[in-house]
Amino acid sequence: MVISESKDLSERRRRIRHSAAHVMADVVVQMFPEAKLAIGPPTGDGFYYDFLVMEPFSSDDLEKIEARMKAVIAANLTFERAEHTREHALAMNAEEPFKTEIIEGIPEDEPISTYRHGGFEDLCEGPHVESTGKIPAFKLLNVAGAYWRGDERRNMLQRIYGTAFESQDALDEYLNHLEEAKLRDHRLLGRELDLFSVHEEVGSGLVIWHPKGARVKGIVENFWREEHYSRGYDLVSTPHIGRSTLWETSGHLDFYAESMYAAMDMDGQDYYLKPMNCPFHIMYYQNDLRSYRDLPMRIGELGSVYRYERGGVLHGLLRVRGMTQDDAHIFCSPDQIEEEVDGVLDLTFHLLRSFGFSDFQVMLSTMPEKAVGDPERWEVATESLRRTLEARGLDYQVDEGGGAFYGPKIDIHIRDAIGRLWQCTTVQFDFNLPERFALTYVGEDGEEHQPYMVHRALLGSIERFMGVLIEHYGGAFPVWLAPVQAVVIPIADRHLEYARQVEHQLAKSGIRVQTDARSERMNAKIREAQVQKVPFMLVVGDREAEAGAAAVRLRSGEDLGAQPVADVVARILEESTPEERRVNVSPG
Ligand SMILES: [Zn+2]
Ligand SMILES: [Zn+2]
Repeated sequence: MVISESKDLSERRRRIRHSAAHVMADVVVQMFPEAKLAIGPPTGDGFYYDFLVMEPFSSDDLEKIEARMKAVIAANLTFERAEHTREHALAMNAEEPFKTEIIEGIPEDEPISTYRHGGFEDLCEGPHVESTGKIPAFKLLNVAGAYWRGDERRNMLQRIYGTAFESQDALDEYLNHLEEAKLRDHRLLGRELDLFSVHEEVGSGLVIWHPKGARVKGIVENFWREEHYSRGYDLVSTPHIGRSTLWETSGHLDFYAESMYAAMDMDGQDYYLKPMNCPFHIMYYQNDLRSYRDLPMRIGELGSVYRYERGGVLHGLLRVRGMTQDDAHIFCSPDQIEEEVDGVLDLTFHLLRSFGFSDFQVMLSTMPEKAVGDPERWEVATESLRRTLEARGLDYQVDEGGGAFYGPKIDIHIRDAIGRLWQCTTVQFDFNLPERFALTYVGEDGEEHQPYMVHRALLGSIERFMGVLIEHYGGAFPVWLAPVQAVVIPIADRHLEYARQVEHQLAKSGIRVQTDARSERMNAKIREAQVQKVPFMLVVGDREAEAGAAAVRLRSGEDLGAQPVADVVARILEESTPEERRVNVSPG
């Protein structure tokens, strides 16, 4: 949970959490003397420590560890820092293979420090709280396997996760938040709502979309396409693989090879699965001689890309190996930059608001030390990003030197219904690819010029965005996104024929509707529709059939009573477009 903490508070929490990790490691080696220690850093929302042990820790173990940690905290032992020579540090850790590996990796000229409390001394840079008593509130959460250095060829370690806070209240609030987040877990909801699955037989990080999930994904994608067409984008469709020559020219085989899958040989030539769409869009640009009259060119695609991610970091839809980027590349002349950037931001906020997000965090990242491209171009691009943010009155943070080596960028995070931030949008200049591919256009002066190029993905990847949407709505999609918008529920079997008529009437109007024809009791069917989070339930019996009506219930449990079917159709249709479009307010 990253509910905007002040810098001081987050620094204090890091100290508390990291100190709690030491206390935990202390207790673990007391209880399991054979345990080998790996690393135990603080994280954004807690801490962990990795141990090599004979058997995984049980939840019973966690309770005992927690109890003994409380005793160490009550003893209020001082944390003491010490510096050691490499030889001494190695001797101290002779029985600790992971610590030894860490020490061996520390450059010769860097100090090697430890922190000690009581009888426990751990290799550590610090900082810590003054003493164990300054850990006001903590909780151990769970245990999971984790490879040493995230490498599946190395030891499988046991990682104990915990968290710690400056007060019991803050800890309780966080634990409540965790409970809430658990209920929204998209992997759980993905199963319950039958949206998607991942199979070992297919491969980790590769998603099978089930009919209902594919339906929602399709709605998101269609909306995306319409919005792009209406804002002067042209959409293309490009292959999943490309020859090595392309990736050599683009430089991906130099600076991105680690994230790419191995080459496939065809007719003596190497082909690669695409990790990015850019080179293909550039091929389209280069397919013709371009003049200033063709600019700006906005080339978009919902392009499937494949990237190698380590097994350990894969997570449901949020970190995958095969994903659909909502990608586009803008090629423009210097005098068009600002308008183009503004157009991208306008579209971004319009899309994100349409999907129900209204709280954004914007980050501008500027030129890093190692950078390619003309510094003057960097300046022009960075200023245009800055000016458009300011013209929109947006609050933003600046990450000085945090841009990619090839250009400055804007990143946008969205805050979900329970306060979590998710990275979505990135708008990025590129001074590298136009150079490498020798992109040009003929200017008004009849001379050749290099166009400015912008990469942008607004939702990020569709898979990840779907994960965020599922968690944001807790699976209860708004009507316009719901895979099934209405369920018709006949009270008894004899009402099935009328139920089918109602279904037909809704379907004819383009409403996504199903009839629950099972011979279950009405209440069971209503419950099922609620579990499936279907927005409208249309219950029909004798009275409704006679009146051409349906008794409408909402998934919230609200009972709207009997209404003419035509009225129900009108209401569902009204809610079938995003609110942002219905009220037609200008975004930004
Ligand atoms: Zn430490
Ligand atoms: Zn790109």
